[in-house]
Amino acid sequence: MSMDTPGSQSSLHRANLERVLRAVRMAGALTQAEIARSTGLSAATVSNIVRELKESGTVVVADTSSGGRRARSVSLSGDAGIVVGVDFGHSHLRVAVGNLAHRVLAEESEPMNVDVSAEQGFARAESLVERLLKQAGFRPDKVIGVGLGVPGPIDVETGALGSTAILPGWTGIAPGRELSARLGMEVYVDNDANLGALGELVWGAGRGVSDLAYIKVASGVGSGLVINGQIYRGPGGTAGEIGHITLDEAGPVCRCGNRGCLETFVGSRYLLNLLNASHDRELTLSSVVQLAQQGDLGCRRVIADAGRQIGTGVATLCNLLNPRRVILGGDLAEAGELVLSPIRDSVARYAIPSAARQLSIVPGTLGGRAEVLGALALVMSEMGETGALGHTGQAAAARG
Ligand SMILES: [Zn+2]
Repeated sequence: MSMDTPGSQSSLHRANLERVLRAVRMAGALTQAEIARSTGLSAATVSNIVRELKESGTVVVADTSSGGRRARSVSLSGDAGIVVGVDFGHSHLRVAVGNLAHRVLAEESEPMNVDVSAEQGFARAESLVERLLKQAGFRPDKVIGVGLGVPGPIDVETGALGSTAILPGWTGIAPGRELSARLGMEVYVDNDANLGALGELVWGAGRGVSDLAYIKVASGVGSGLVINGQIYRGPGGTAGEIGHITLDEAGPVCRCGNRGCLETFVGSRYLLNLLNASHDRELTLSSVVQLAQQGDLGCRRVIADAGRQIGTGVATLCNLLNPRRVILGGDLAEAGELVLSPIRDSVARYAIPSAARQLSIVPGTLGGRAEVLGALALVMSEMGETGALGHTGQAAAARG
């Protein structure tokens, strides 16, 4: 019997098994009925596959109730594998260690100067990963993969980091390869907006929603798009660059070379500039949000105007993609309703009604942890399916 002929009984079974595993891995826990719904497989097929996975120790099945009825909840076994997340941010390095059952076992963040060289940055990431693995009680060979977040675009072909406003000295470096070589683990790389989207999808405000956009407003503006439960990146990896929608052809020059991009109206540098003359103390985006919440009129105005502009971009995005939920993340999201309500007003004005009707616009619930948790989810989403069965090799080559 040929084991791997496409279309053969065994390859079909294997494909079904992988679909079930992926669904459970991304959701954390599902009833068998939910697995059937999300994979499109029949109840009988799901039941057989779950039995097989339970016998091999890959999943655990527990009694639960669903809508008042008894049901059995399926989740991955805690020792099915360990995943690691690493997030290089604006001023921090954050690392988390978790298992495939969605438990975060260790997590730590340390301040990192933006002037730090890539070499130093990766050395610190390496030692923090090693320390947290030890703390969680796992040997490095238990790690299925590492998710790595960087605050800039990754070239799909070379894996190199494009120009970034946040870590200027890192341009041209392939962060996945660097970290993979140091750790001897498979590393998956993505930008911070995509990871924020994955983090909120799996752990936060996007749970249970398969079509969403995560909009991160901090020093720059980016978005991560989830379509059908998966990140949409586009062939060049640039999907979701909402910050460079043109709002005003005669507006300020943007770092992308165009004029009047959304980012030039709502990026932190531009917002802080607006307050230069009226506020003599040194402001950060966080302190502007804080002042606004204390009633400072200038700061409230700046945040409301930013919300209106973001809403214009969100309306365009909704007309094109029709997501069910838009999740706001990044420093500006801390302003809550001060920024969300003007966003909703703009969307109501500019989006076509059928795109806006089922849309909810909400703040992220993970705050600064969204990216590192998204890095854990990235491994769960992208890993070779056999990884969940414990057969992964320690491939040293990074994917991105
Ligand atoms: Zn631009």
